[in-house]
Amino acid sequence: MDRKNRIYKIASIPGDGIGTEVVEAGLTVLAALERQEPFGFEVTRFDWGSEYYLRHGVMMPEDGRDQIRGMDAILFGSAGDPRVPDHITLWGLRLAICQRFDQYANVRPSRLLPGIRGPLRDCAPEDLDWVIVRENSEGEYAGVGGRVHTGLPLEVGLDVSVMTRAGVERVMRFAYELARSRPRKLLTIVTKSNAQRHAMVMWDEIAAEVGRDFPDVATDKMLVDAMTQRMVLKPQSIDTVVASNLHADILSDLAAALTGSLGIAATGNINPERTYPSMFEPIHGSAFDIMGKGIANPIGTFWSAAMMLDHLGEADAGRRLMRAIERVTGAGDVLPRDLGGNADTRAVTEAVCQALEDGGA
Ligand code: NAD
Ligand code: MN
Repeated sequence: MDRKNRIYKIASIPGDGIGTEVVEAGLTVLAALERQEPFGFEVTRFDWGSEYYLRHGVMMPEDGRDQIRGMDAILFGSAGDPRVPDHITLWGLRLAICQRFDQYANVRPSRLLPGIRGPLRDCAPEDLDWVIVRENSEGEYAGVGGRVHTGLPLEVGLDVSVMTRAGVERVMRFAYELARSRPRKLLTIVTKSNAQRHAMVMWDEIAAEVGRDFPDVATDKMLVDAMTQRMVLKPQSIDTVVASNLHADILSDLAAALTGSLGIAATGNINPERTYPSMFEPIHGSAFDIMGKGIANPIGTFWSAAMMLDHLGEADAGRRLMRAIERVTGAGDVLPRDLGGNADTRAVTEAVCQALEDGGA
């Protein structure tokens, strides 16, 4: 074993379904990368998820968060199993980590990778290069609400969207900073303040206030329904986007489809203050229809691992991993099924490892 001068502690939480398949592939690629780097990873695997739930009645142990609090980052797969209701799996694991670790900025890049043809006619790679920032701690997914008169004709169900001044301000500031760091310095603020006349109006006001500290960033405001059209019809007019928890959840699945497949889309759930570890994951779910078959596209996880490297301060290694992914998509002979090829998870993983080796340090 060669000596490493930096060791990063990574919590691996594959979760359910294809999450287990793609995270294992991600760890394989990180192991290949680490062989050529002065740093290394110390990976701890956690078997939390629906199997764990069926045995113990909880998705993760009571002290689960304490077990991972001291890690440098978390690599996550997916929460969701046909045998367990989705709101239990999601809240019991993924949201239990995101919210309590205050990972309030969910960063979702979308780019047309070399060799990938998206569904948009005449959309060149340089026409689609976006980052969506999703508010990740409150809003529509605050978890506030309840059900009353359950099962009776007068039953009521409430999911109350909660927006706080502090919560909106911090995600706006994060989005402006990110927009400023990109060449176009362009931020689109997504809203629905025509129909939602309280919190979303406050959202707009705070965006404008924070914007005064960023005179060099150009902004525009877009209603979320109109935003879906703009993403399809004028992709080149978009760069950085900030949106509420629900809005960005939906828009980023659309963004993923426009770049070829949900299977390549990556994300980081970021705690910018670094009080807690941040969590990196593909945006897709457990994919019940293909789980266990070994054919899931692992590229979303590889891209998420590249974001993780960047967050850990290893931006060069992150770029090297992205270049390896792009060499594989660009060559086009080893593509997973959702991108029109017939390679399985293992073949795509091996191709990216090979590209890393060929690419050198
Ligand atoms: P999904 O992302 O699991 O699947 C949607 C479609 O995309 C399916 O046809 C699937 O086969 C395909 N797909 C997704 N990822 C793929 C990949 N890597 N390679 C190839 N094809 C891929 O979404 P869903 O069907 O709405 O949800 C299934 C389960 O996953 C539910 O339990 C849901 O709650 C959960 N889920 C979890 C997360 C998360 O933990 N972050 C995110 C989304 C959905
Ligand atoms: Mn989603």
